[in-house]
Amino acid sequence: MDHCAPDCGRRRFIKLTAIGLAAAPFASALLGSAARAADMVSESDPQASALGYVADATKSTKRTDASAACHNCGLYTGKEGEESGPCAIFQGKLVHANGWCTAWVKKAA
Ligand code: SF4
Repeated sequence: MDHCAPDCGRRRFIKLTAIGLAAAPFASALLGSAARAADMVSESDPQASALGYVADATKSTKRTDASAACHNCGLYTGKEGEESGPCAIFQGKLVHANGWCTAWVKKAA
């Protein structure tokens, strides 16, 4: 015998929909930050690690020019004052403005 009332399935559906709607803003917030994080070049990315990329230039042991950083690199196309921006080497990803890698070339004045 079925223990469910005739509208049991409908009530269950409404309840699940309400839970889904209540959770939606949190889910989109989580997805939003995950998408932003995914856009950043990771130091552990094989190409990044081959080039000695660091998100904080001051942490690099390979950097010889203390003023060199992504924001003043010729391959960086990020806007001045922004925390991160695109780099010609890492297509489709962003590098930290204060990052650095061994491919750094002085930006033309
Ligand atoms: S090439 Fe330039 S902008 Fe790109 S990661 Fe290296 S230092 Fe930064």
